[in-house]
Amino acid sequence: MTEVFKGSFTQQEPIPDEGIAAALEVLKSGRLHRYNVAEGELAQAALLEQEFAAAMGARFCLAVASGGYAMGCALRALDVKPGARVLTNAFTLAPVPGAIASVGAVPVFVGVTEDLTIDLEDLAAKASQADVLMLSHMRGHLADMDALMALCRAENIQVIEDCAHTMGASWRGRMSGTDGIIGCYSTQTYKHMNSGEGGLLITDDAEVAARAIILSGSYMLYERHLAAPAPEVFERVKYDTPNVSGRMDNLRAAILRPQLGNLTAQCEAWNARYRCVEEGLAATPGLTCVRRPDAEHYVGSSIQFLLLDWPDAKINEVLARCAARGVELKWFGGAEPTGFTSRYDSWRYAPSAPMPKSDRVLKGILDMRLPLTFSLQDCALIAQIIKAEVSAVFQSR
Ligand SMILES: *Cc1c(COP(=O)(O)O)cnc(C)c1O
Repeated sequence: MTEVFKGSFTQQEPIPDEGIAAALEVLKSGRLHRYNVAEGELAQAALLEQEFAAAMGARFCLAVASGGYAMGCALRALDVKPGARVLTNAFTLAPVPGAIASVGAVPVFVGVTEDLTIDLEDLAAKASQADVLMLSHMRGHLADMDALMALCRAENIQVIEDCAHTMGASWRGRMSGTDGIIGCYSTQTYKHMNSGEGGLLITDDAEVAARAIILSGSYMLYERHLAAPAPEVFERVKYDTPNVSGRMDNLRAAILRPQLGNLTAQCEAWNARYRCVEEGLAATPGLTCVRRPDAEHYVGSSIQFLLLDWPDAKINEVLARCAARGVELKWFGGAEPTGFTSRYDSWRYAPSAPMPKSDRVLKGILDMRLPLTFSLQDCALIAQIIKAEVSAVFQSR
């Protein structure tokens, strides 16, 4: 069996026609800036915020320039000071420690389990070091959010959730991003809604929302927001909150609003693909599929599996053999950061001590995107290829 897969792992779906039409309207109006509205007009950005808050079940929402900006803005809104320590995942993407570094704070890395979630024992051990946890639901894996929130409440730790891969996911029916004081989302091309670049931030805390809105660069135009607290809350914070410009514009918001309306269906389409690959990989010798708890409603926009305790050379052989058959796998265990993948010890601006248990997991993580341009047949073929190549290399060890 030497069939080769021909699809592209980076090809997303087109923007829906409705989004293209709405974007053209914005372009024709010339009013791309979110505060540039005609008499009686509601800005696309403000409408998106109102609709996203409703979809997530949050009181307040702010649209911003990127997911990374949303996270930095969240830290500023919580008044995280330069030099402060912020707990975060050892297994995440570079913009997460980057957001912490952007406010002059210092990441404290918390380990990862074989379920690819934050290690709650390690979190408990390090809890006294910080007042804030930047919790990254990396690749869509939700930790036990009941246990995590109980631990953080007991330790007086405020939780910011990085939901770049969990927009539309939930834990025991609670939307991802609503457990912490702030939830951050990305609408960059490879996430669950696509505006090229973009981010969203939600919170139920009025003062945090007011600070975030002013931080994003609202000047004193915050009354043009539709998912914001009352003006008196802004009165309390407006003289002490700097403008760290990072707004979303009406063009991106117009592209996103129809996608939000379709989010649930898109999430189901991802999960059908995820389950197809997962089933195809079952019972592959040497390969560990990642456990998904019953309480977790995930969005399978990417899939991970583990080659635990495999020598580097054999993992590289799997990568090469899969690549030769058109299947692009990403390896988080590689010694050097490449493409989008890097690991906690490659972020040398942030101090870190070795974490042997996490290193074992990180070394074994293989990762693959599942764009919705793939059919279920594509997914079945991809799983077949991985299974065959992993099996072949495993037998030759
Ligand atoms: C993409 C991503 C971000 C940041 O999003 P941008 O919009 O690219 O800034 C943050 N966290 C994770 C885990 C991501 O994958």
